[in-house]
Amino acid sequence: MSIPQPQLPTGLPTDLWLGLTQVPSSSGATFEVDDPATGETVATVADATIADAARALDAAVAAQEKWAEFSPRQRSVVLTRIFEVVAQRSEDFARTMTIEMGKPLAEARGEVAYGNEYFRWFAEEAVRIPGRFATAPGGNGHILVSRAAVGPVLAITPWNFPLAMATRKIAPALAAGCPVIVKPAHETPLTMLLLGEVFAQVFAELGVPDGLVSILPTTDAAAMSAHLMADQRLRKVSFTGSTPVGRQLVRQAADNLLHTSMELGGNAPFVIAADADLDLVITCAMQAKMRNGGEACIAANRFLVDASIAEEFTTRLTRAMEAVIPGHGLDGATTLGPVITAKQRDRIASLVDAALAAGAQATTGGTLPDGPGYFYPATVLVNVPADARILHEEIFGPVATITTFTTLDQGIRAANDTEFGLASYGFTTNVDTAQYLAENLHAGMVGINRGAISDPAAPFGGIKQSGFGREGGSEGIEEYLDVRYIALN
Ligand code: NAD
Repeated sequence: MSIPQPQLPTGLPTDLWLGLTQVPSSSGATFEVDDPATGETVATVADATIADAARALDAAVAAQEKWAEFSPRQRSVVLTRIFEVVAQRSEDFARTMTIEMGKPLAEARGEVAYGNEYFRWFAEEAVRIPGRFATAPGGNGHILVSRAAVGPVLAITPWNFPLAMATRKIAPALAAGCPVIVKPAHETPLTMLLLGEVFAQVFAELGVPDGLVSILPTTDAAAMSAHLMADQRLRKVSFTGSTPVGRQLVRQAADNLLHTSMELGGNAPFVIAADADLDLVITCAMQAKMRNGGEACIAANRFLVDASIAEEFTTRLTRAMEAVIPGHGLDGATTLGPVITAKQRDRIASLVDAALAAGAQATTGGTLPDGPGYFYPATVLVNVPADARILHEEIFGPVATITTFTTLDQGIRAANDTEFGLASYGFTTNVDTAQYLAENLHAGMVGINRGAISDPAAPFGGIKQSGFGREGGSEGIEEYLDVRYIALN
């Protein structure tokens, strides 16, 4: 594996963004950010304290009043300008993301385009916030329904999509009229700190109030969020991350009755009916499994295939997985980057090892490579026992499990046999079967003959232990709005 010099953009910010200003941590503390492909430190970043968070909330509260004076059209213009500047700097964003998170540069470029699209989409939604006017049924007056910004928002994001997981929250919040404090994952704070530079430029250019967005990387997320959530001026927590942390935040949010949006874990099934088009299935299987190296909440974890085509599917998926090229994300040939940390890699290895020990077989992969970085190979497992942990936990890595069914209902039952309900995929060439799959796979999102389903114009989110709330679509802005009823004569 060749490892190009990981060169971050010159002058990349590493201090906190308290509104428009870069400041060191009030404690002076810093932490290191590693390149997961080498394990080497690439940057040292300010480690925010609860005092920094308190200052950010003061600034957010002050900014909200001034931001409310911006008309929907003016807010839309600000978001559009952010979209333009991010697009101009897309290569800086993509390289930064690859270096701190590991994904291949081509995928990082894809995330920049996708993540940035939320600014454009919500620039368009800012001017379409709905209302309603009706005559009261009794004829004794009128009903006016409008929407108002919920207030300051805390946005907590994971490391797997360092830009998009935050822009899905920041863009609708700003469009709705809310200030935001962003707490990026400490593994990948650099992409967000770079976005802070874009905010500083655009906000200064367009006279946006200072304090509207603050960005606070910290190694003590629990202390920071607890402190902010105890302050009644904070009105919402939007969280993307693991289900246990989501549950804890919902409990904490109860004390001040905060709005919450919870985008949590998944365990997506990928159901392949006997009549599916296998060429399409393989293309989509690789998208659904290997995008982001499998480190995606909507990654296909469980391939459930009709027994009559299982052998051919297994052979072809194995071949496609064998063609994957692991390496440093900056190397143009790479199609699979490292896992984010040694701990995550070891977790994946333990799930695979336990399945193998229980009788599963690997048709490819399954053994840890030597060398630097946190790499795990593209792996396909067959004959996995039904009670193996790997079928019930989120894998979050480049491992596909294949199990078979003999009737479609059996396949659907197995697909739904999970506490999660984020995404499901179904494949068939029969329109009735397609509709049957769409209606019977239990998830917030169902892809029919599609392996890539994320779209800023569509409502992204889950059911059951995958959480609640939606990001994107016209639904996404509702999460940042309170309904207000005005009774009129
Ligand atoms: P994580 O829950 O460990 O961390 C997510 C974020 O929460 C990070 O910023 C972290 O610093 C912060 N955090 C951790 N403990 C906290 C606490 N006690 N209080 C407040 N904040 C805390 O998750 P992760 O390992 O970074 O991300 C992977 C998880 O995210 C997976 O389960 C994945 O499915 C999920 N995810 C979900 C979606 C979705 O849209 N549903 C998208 C991407 C990732």
